[in-house]
Amino acid sequence: VAVAEILSIGTELLLGQILDTNAQFIGSELAKLGIDSFFRTTVGDNVERIKEAFATALKRADLVIATGGLGPTADDLTHESVAELLGTEMEFDEEVFDRIQKIFARFKYKMPESNRKQAFRPRGARILANPVGTAPGIIWEIDKQTCARIGVEQPRTVLTFPGVPREMQAMWRETAVPFLAKSYSDGVTWSRELKHYGIGESALAEKFAHLLKLSNPTVAPYAGRWECRLRVTAKAPSVEAATALAQPVIDEILRGSGNLCYGFDDDTLESVVGALLTKSGKTLAVAESCTGGLVSERLTDIPGSSNYIKLNVVSYANEAKQQLLGVEEEVLNGHGAVSAECAEQMAKGIKELAKADLGLSITGIAGPTGGTPEKPVGLVYIGLAIPGSYLGKELGLPSRLSRSDIRLRSANEALNMVRLHLIEEGQR
Ligand code: ATP
Ligand code: MG
Repeated sequence: VAVAEILSIGTELLLGQILDTNAQFIGSELAKLGIDSFFRTTVGDNVERIKEAFATALKRADLVIATGGLGPTADDLTHESVAELLGTEMEFDEEVFDRIQKIFARFKYKMPESNRKQAFRPRGARILANPVGTAPGIIWEIDKQTCARIGVEQPRTVLTFPGVPREMQAMWRETAVPFLAKSYSDGVTWSRELKHYGIGESALAEKFAHLLKLSNPTVAPYAGRWECRLRVTAKAPSVEAATALAQPVIDEILRGSGNLCYGFDDDTLESVVGALLTKSGKTLAVAESCTGGLVSERLTDIPGSSNYIKLNVVSYANEAKQQLLGVEEEVLNGHGAVSAECAEQMAKGIKELAKADLGLSITGIAGPTGGTPEKPVGLVYIGLAIPGSYLGKELGLPSRLSRSDIRLRSANEALNMVRLHLIEEGQR
């Protein structure tokens, strides 16, 4: 199995001004190609240190994949550095220069003299064309003699990409993937995440302890924000073979998890709720207090939500709860706005007002102020009015949670309640 190492070049990465999303992207792409990756380095815009980083990486890996430092400015040093390390010259490439000039001509800009620099590449390296910008990268399959100069054996390949993620990704897909698949990949790594809600990471790991010992596919638990995931990863010569290995394990997890598993990969609670509403042909209306519209935002983030979302209100003040949703004065005076009774009347009220099949409500104390011994921060009531009936839930979230965490948790719980109801309804 080929080994690759990612080199992220740029002082702004070290200073924390930007996040290294290029390494993240390339890392996940390498895994898909079945190429191993053991080290990842970040280095600033400095020739000596870039040379050192390349030298180290070329000792450890067959493939060194660098991003950043290909631009026209004085701090863009990647190609110069790697050429210097390997003892070769920079060669002027007429074809590349031509292309750069044409790009400027197309946009009717005068080409700055500094862009001439981008037409140079190390002797022996091929150009990796940039379909969306001026800076080309290189694919350099380093010959034996040159490898010997730094005391490494063949094969050694250096690939370089510009730092701009959009350009890097376009070049990766168009040029790098076909090259890597042909020359370096001897299989695929396929994985699927099974997303769980309502069970902690350790409980999940215990439940499937026997699966966590498998070697192909592997099963690994990950904790997320109030949810956790099991990732099933299989390695095989083809995607078909990998999925065939993984599927029985996925099926076993699904049988064991039941409704605790809400979806796969990019699924979210709101996207799953949306799919269930679409499938059942039911409509939903939401009345929010302490979540301030978070549930509505998440639900309407899903394309096609206008088919099932009827009306959402943020009824923050007592008057709004009374006038819009018909919450009774006696309830507000007797039990307060944060009460099971108020949640019930809000849910029934919004259902009625919107003429929806389901009415969801949330009222609670998000803190950090406003808590009392009887009603502490983190006390939240969720209501779900359904045809002919009503479901209510009280949450006692830890008071130490931040305001945004309490809102997020409450929104998750509310969405999950709708999800579970729709699943139960569908099974009837
Ligand atoms: P350009 O030709 O645009 O100058 P370049 O190859 O010289 O590209 P850099 O100058 O290193 O690349 O970075 C250009 C921009 O790309 C940075 O300002 C940053 O926004 C983004 N960028 C660079 N490296 C990364 C990275 N590793 N992850 C995410 N974004 C990055
Ligand atoms: Mg630059």
